[in-house]
Amino acid sequence: MSDSPAELLSVDVVEGPVPVVAVVGRPNVGKSTLVNRIIGRRQAVVEDVPGVTRDRVPYDAQWNGRRFTVVDTGGWEPDARDRAAAIARQAEMAVQTADVVVFVVDVSVGATDVDEAAVKMLRRSHKPVILVANKADNQNLELEAVSLWSLGLGEPHPISALHGRGSGDLLDDILSALPDPPPIVEDGPRGPRRVALVGRPNVGKSSLLNKVSKEERAVVDSVAGTTVDPVDSLVEMDGEVWQFVDTAGLRKRVNQASGTEYYASLRTAGAVEAAEVAVVLLDSSEVISEQDQRVLTQVVEAGRALVIAFNKWDLVDADRRIFLDKEIDRELKRIPWAVRVNISAKTGRAVDKLAPALRRALDSWERRVPTGALNQWLTALTQATPHPVRGGRAPRILFATQAGVAPPRFVLFTTGPLDAGYIRFVERKLREEFGFEGSPIEISVKPRK
Ligand code: GDP
Ligand code: GDP
Repeated sequence: MSDSPAELLSVDVVEGPVPVVAVVGRPNVGKSTLVNRIIGRRQAVVEDVPGVTRDRVPYDAQWNGRRFTVVDTGGWEPDARDRAAAIARQAEMAVQTADVVVFVVDVSVGATDVDEAAVKMLRRSHKPVILVANKADNQNLELEAVSLWSLGLGEPHPISALHGRGSGDLLDDILSALPDPPPIVEDGPRGPRRVALVGRPNVGKSSLLNKVSKEERAVVDSVAGTTVDPVDSLVEMDGEVWQFVDTAGLRKRVNQASGTEYYASLRTAGAVEAAEVAVVLLDSSEVISEQDQRVLTQVVEAGRALVIAFNKWDLVDADRRIFLDKEIDRELKRIPWAVRVNISAKTGRAVDKLAPALRRALDSWERRVPTGALNQWLTALTQATPHPVRGGRAPRILFATQAGVAPPRFVLFTTGPLDAGYIRFVERKLREEFGFEGSPIEISVKPRK
C-alpha cells in the first residue's frame, strides 16, 4: 500500500450555505478596487471603460478561514436619466440577495444626494450595513470620514481600497456581521474511504466482498491505530485501503431469504448512511426490479456518490445484452450520471475497475466549481435559454454559488420561483459543463424577498 493513513489527506468538510456580501455605492467610489482588495487580486475587476457592465459579479473570498461570496455591483447605466433612481434600483437588487451590505462612499467627495437616496433603501432592507469611507488615503481624509456619521448608518470605516489602508479591520467587521458560521468540523486525517456494498439479496454482494478482500489481514495490520468498526471490512484495492461498511452480515452469509424486505432496506439505509459512496449491485442476468430501484433511490436520496456494478456479467450473452441496454435506458434514465462497471464476482472479470470507478464518483462528489467560472457559464446559459415567461414575467437567475460539497450543492439567487423543469434543465447543463459523474447534485433556489 502506497499511502500511509496520514497521507490520506482531509477534504472540504460539509458546510452551511456560503454567506453573501454585497458591495454597493455610486460609480467610481472604489467598489471594484475594494472587491479586488477583499479577494486578494489586483487589477482583476477594475474596468475604467465607461459603459462596461459589471452587474452583480460574484467572487469567492476568504478571511481568517471564513469563506464568503462578495458581489461587486459595479453595473451602472451611465446614461440613465434619473441617476438616483438607477443607483437605488441597482443596489436594491444586490441588497436583497445579501447577508451583509458594504456601502461605499467616496470620502474625498463626501456624501451626495445619490448616497442619501441609497441610504433610504438600505434602511428599508433591514440588512446589516457596513459604511465604508473609501479613498481615505491619508490622515486628513481619514478624519473627514467622521462627517459620514450624518448618514445614520453607524460608524464609518475609513479605508483606502487602493493602498490597503484599513482593509484588514474592515474585513474583521464584515466577518463579525455575517450570520453565525456552522460548527467547525474536525479537519484531521481522513482515514479510508467508506464504501457501502448494497443490492437486493443474491445479486452477489458477499461474493464480491470475498473476491476483493483476499489480502485483508495484511491491510488490517498496516492500518493499525485507525478505529474501524468491527462490523466493517478493510480491503485493499488498487493500492488504496477502502473501508466497506457494515459487512458483518454479508460475511456471515446469514440466510437472507429469511429477512423481510423491510429489514433488508433498513440494513441498506444504515450502510448507505455510514458510507461516502455506495456500490449498488445489480444482477445483469435478471431484469432490473422494483427492489433494485428502491436501493438506488435510497442512495440518491441520502446524497451519496453512486457506482452501479452490473454483476454476473459472465451470464450476459449477446441476446441478453440487447435487452439489458434497452432496460438501462428505460429504468435508469433518472440517474444517467451514475458510474457503471460490468463485473463478475465469480470470474473476477473487471473487478479491478471498481476502485477507479469509486474514485471517479468520489471526485465528483467533492468537486467545487469556482464561483467565477460558475457564473460565467450561467450567464451564457440563461442568455441563450432564458426561463419561460410565467404570468407575464420571466424569473431571472441573478447569480449562483456552490454552497457545499459531498454532494455538491448549488444555490441560485433569483428574482422569483423557477419551474421544476427549468431547474432540471440547469442541472443537466451543469453536468454537461462540469461533469459530476457518479454524484447526485442539489440545486436550491433563493428568490429575493
Ligand atoms: P467603482 O465604480 O465604484 O467600482 O470604482 P472603481 O473601483 O472602479 O474605482 C474608481 C476610481 O477610483 C479608480 O480610478 C480607482 O483607482 C480609484 N480608487 C479606488 N479606491 C481608491 C482609494 O482608496 N484611493 C484613491 N485615491 N483612489 C481610489
Ligand atoms: P448476496 O446475497 O448479494 O450476498 O449474493 P451472493 O454473493 O450470496 O451470491 C448469490 C449467488 O450468486 C451465489 O450462488 C453466487 O455464487 C452467485 N454469484 C455471485 N456473483 C456471481 C457472478 O458474477 N456470476 C455468476 N454466474 N454467479 C454469481
